[in-house]
Amino acid sequence: MEKPYISIVVPAYNEEGNLKPLMERLLPVMRGMGKPFEIIFTDDGSRDRTLAILKGMLPEVPELKLIEFNGNFGQHMAILAAFEKSSGEIVITLDADLQNPPEEIPRLAAEIEKGHDVVGTIRLKRQDTFFRKTASRIVNITTNKMTGMKMSDYGCMLRAYHRDVIDNINHCQETTTFIPALAQTFAANPTEIEVGHAERGEGESKYSLYRLIRLNFDLMTGFSVVPLQLFALMGILTSLASVGFALFLMIRRFIIGAEVEGVFTLFAILFFFVGIVIFGIGLVGEYVGRIYQEVRKRPRYVVRRVHGFKR
Ligand code: UDP
Ligand code: MG
Repeated sequence: MEKPYISIVVPAYNEEGNLKPLMERLLPVMRGMGKPFEIIFTDDGSRDRTLAILKGMLPEVPELKLIEFNGNFGQHMAILAAFEKSSGEIVITLDADLQNPPEEIPRLAAEIEKGHDVVGTIRLKRQDTFFRKTASRIVNITTNKMTGMKMSDYGCMLRAYHRDVIDNINHCQETTTFIPALAQTFAANPTEIEVGHAERGEGESKYSLYRLIRLNFDLMTGFSVVPLQLFALMGILTSLASVGFALFLMIRRFIIGAEVEGVFTLFAILFFFVGIVIFGIGLVGEYVGRIYQEVRKRPRYVVRRVHGFKR
């Protein structure tokens, strides 16, 4: 078989109902492009029939390749493992749940061929819950402010990357990451296009509220130390304000006399500041925890077996 020109990368975790419909739409699109391609699925420790279904497809689809994880290491690790195994000039990531229409792939590839090295996407008429959309809006704005990047939609995983960017990503060894942001740091000439978005095919979102929060911490602390700097700044401002307040109390004592009441007001103010301090410790802890994870140097993911790759 020829060396692939396009690599399609799909992470799958408990997606048994979506794999057949996805392949039925993806294959005609890829065959229609008339270039050699490969489709790499990573089974991220699924507990349903995902792995069995993918293995069943292997003999029928010569372009299909499969990475089998030893457990659930998360969407971003699943994509990274496939990046390492990919060999196409153009690498395109896609969700397995049919939220990203495979029909958009030729448009993404065309942007790379025009000379862009990262093609980001903006989901038109995004089909997610109101809560998810609002949360994403806040994340997009704050992340852009904190990292200095300019991306309209961090969450959309239907994206295309040039081989050079993939090679750079493959050199990174961080254990927690957020791939669109990581790619953006290596992009010399990125662009963004609008793509369609559909409701999830079968099953449910794999992101609980807790996992979403974790993921956003990965994004915020993994790509910026601005939160720490803001905190230091806040400390300086608070100190200045308290000096002003002490001066005010001193002058007040000379003019009106000592104040006695207001004990509970004091509590309210105190609780407010204690809250800020605990938040600050937590924030520092986030960074320390991440440093700890990195220095342990444990494997980021464990591959049990791979199928369909040439030795
Ligand atoms: N996914 C994965 N491992 C995980 C969670 C998700 O490989 O631990 C895959 C999932 O199968 C899907 C993609 O990542 O292909 C996006 O997940 P999902 O649709 O649940 O996220 P959402 O669209 O709700 O953000
Ligand atoms: Mg989805």
